[in-house]
Amino acid sequence: MARIISVALPKGGVGKTTTAVNLAASLAVAEQRTLLIDMDTFGASGLSLGFTEGTVRAGLYEVFNFVTGMQEAIHKTELKFLDFIPANVRSMQMEERMIRVADNRGILRNALRSVAGQYDFVILDCPPFLRGLSANALIASDAVLIPVKSGHFALEAVDRLFTYLEWVKEVAHKSIDVEGILITMHEPGTRVTDITIRELHAKYGKHMFATSIPRNTALSEASFYGKPAILYSANCRGASAYLKLAREILARNVQRTSPLQPAAEQLSRQA
Ligand code: ADP
Ligand code: MG
Repeated sequence: MARIISVALPKGGVGKTTTAVNLAASLAVAEQRTLLIDMDTFGASGLSLGFTEGTVRAGLYEVFNFVTGMQEAIHKTELKFLDFIPANVRSMQMEERMIRVADNRGILRNALRSVAGQYDFVILDCPPFLRGLSANALIASDAVLIPVKSGHFALEAVDRLFTYLEWVKEVAHKSIDVEGILITMHEPGTRVTDITIRELHAKYGKHMFATSIPRNTALSEASFYGKPAILYSANCRGASAYLKLAREILARNVQRTSPLQPAAEQLSRQA
């Protein structure tokens, strides 16, 4: 069964989409069968993978409205081990309808049952708010990965997410692991950066990833050109950092399931 990970924080511009896309691509490079799902009606992860209205057949919108099943919404990508389900929300009317339908918090969890067996990892790119689509994502997830933009006072948003996880536990009768807190767009040495990272470590130390993602323009260029960084500029610092993150996640998950060991070793050789 796949490990299902939501990439979430109730704040925009912190690197959720960049992390979802590049982590999914890095896992795929390690030959982990990976499915990335765009939970954000804005559709940024689809654009980051080069999908346009013309190349999308059906997406989460059709699945949530029971027009198609999950299987029909799966799109192949340039990477053999990476599949993608776009949001496919193309108008305000569709967005309103999607948000209304998402009030039923269990839709994604039910829909994923039919496809999760085909994958090792399912990565969910969440919108910058809780409720609705994020609630759907979290309730379907085994774990949450929390990206925090370096140098911004993010503690409040992280606190809010942790409170929300408690609520999810109550309404969905399940606990969600914290896969980890990830510093993104990191520029070491500045005073604000140091202070915010120290705050995060003080409060959430045991959840912090050892890996952090540096600020690296190749990451935003890659998404502009519709590619994961590893296919745009394989040796850039951003792509290497996301490979390292994938390795850290694989190594941790080895403790849960032993067949992942060879993949972690393969990534170590590549990085
Ligand atoms: P979110 O999904 O949380 O709104 P994004 O992943 O879209 O955030 O990132 C916000 C902006 O920052 C985008 O323009 C993206 O290209 C850019 N960005 C993200 N991570 C990095 C990074 N490590 N270095 C440089 N730019 C980044
Ligand atoms: Mg986003």
